[in-house]
Amino acid sequence: MLEHTVFIGLGSNINSPKQQVIQALQEIHTSKEIFVQACSHLYESVPMGPQDQPNFINAVCKAATSLSPSGLLDKLQEIESLHNRVRTAEKWGPRTLDLDVLMYNQEKISNERLILPHYGMHEREFVLIPMFEIQPDLIMPDGRALAAWISQCELSGLKRHNDSVDYKSIAA
Ligand code: ATP
Ligand code: CA
Ligand code: CA
Ligand code: CA
Repeated sequence: MLEHTVFIGLGSNINSPKQQVIQALQEIHTSKEIFVQACSHLYESVPMGPQDQPNFINAVCKAATSLSPSGLLDKLQEIESLHNRVRTAEKWGPRTLDLDVLMYNQEKISNERLILPHYGMHEREFVLIPMFEIQPDLIMPDGRALAAWISQCELSGLKRHNDSVDYKSIAA
């Protein structure tokens, strides 16, 4: 059974970022252990860290899965590899695809591979705003409302792309 509810953050800023993100959503949905229930629009954000790189395209999806937290991370890293994700020494450098586990049920986990909820979410507009679009009444693992997290996050304005995201079509 797909008994666990998760939120996954997607980002890309090189090699056709919109296509990277949409294709990744399709690949996530196509995997038999994951069912995508809802997806935000695509949003454009300015990069964190090094500024000499293109803007990012970001989205968040909510999904049901049978995978364990580490099994889900394995699956997402496998999809990143399909997109030729290269990990360089530079933190927050350009990437074809970044898939982060944002939340896994209401679990709090901290081990060498996985921190849940994702450690940076509370200060990332490009994560919180798409999550709010999907589920405005979401309660976070600390017991506070997502809306309260947003009210404490510095907001500088994301650009929403209005194209619909067709994650249900089978990836080529
Ligand atoms: P950030 O984590 O600040 O968003 P990043 O996404 O660029 O930065 P990566 O290079 O993609 O960082 O990942 C570094 C490591 O983070 C991964 O190898 C993974 O083991 C670990 N990690 C810890 N918690 C999570 C999580 N919730 N989701 C994804 N990866 C995680
Ligand atoms: Ca599926
Ligand atoms: Ca990330
Ligand atoms: Ca990552």
